Amino acid sequence: MQIETVGIFCGSSTGSNNIYREETIKLADYLAQNGKSLVYGGGTAGLMGVLAGRMLEKGCRVTGVIPEMIQTKVGHLPLTETIVTPDMHSRKRKMYDISDCFIALPGGIGTIEEISEAFTWQQLGYHSKAVSLYNINNFFKYFDSFLEAAEMAGFIKNVHRSRLIIESEPARLLEKLESYDGTTIDKWS
Ligand code: AMP
Repeated sequence: MQIETVGIFCGSSTGSNNIYREETIKLADYLAQNGKSLVYGGGTAGLMGVLAGRMLEKGCRVTGVIPEMIQTKVGHLPLTETIVTPDMHSRKRKMYDISDCFIALPGGIGTIEEISEAFTWQQLGYHSKAVSLYNINNFFKYFDSFLEAAEMAGFIKNVHRSRLIIESEPARLLEKLESYDGTTIDKWS
């Protein structure tokens, strides 16, 4: 699938190791070199701000989708476009609709919730877009172990789990996102 707009979920903190910031900038630069646009959570805090700031600097189109309540509380970058939604649910729906694929960078519970929902919707066939983890510093090791445990215990099918793309190198990540075949594998069969 040709990807123009990448939806990225990431921490509202930068993490305790500078590697998270550095590798976020590396991904931002690679996406910019390849002419991609960004859709993200709209704030300036943490890796979100690092990512959006860098992509704006590189001349990319950056759209922030932010709920009214958060918008009044956080700092703002001069984005290409800011979409304000009434609540968190409509924010996520909007982000899912206008992105061609999804990437999670390291983050906290907000990031895990958002990427898990995108992955759940893929599994259920609500969308056929690629879902991925940018595995900086092997951050997602324990999340992947959880998915493995859930598969071993019979709660996730391998055909669904194996659709989650996990990569730590921007070029390989984008290549896998662009070659994702988009077929829905029926959860109920
Ligand atoms: P967390 O991973 O818990 O830091 O939460 C990050 C995710 O929650 C982001 O992907 C955003 O969608 C949302 N979020 C949390 N804090 C903010 C904020 N200050 N501004 C915009 N979105 C936020």
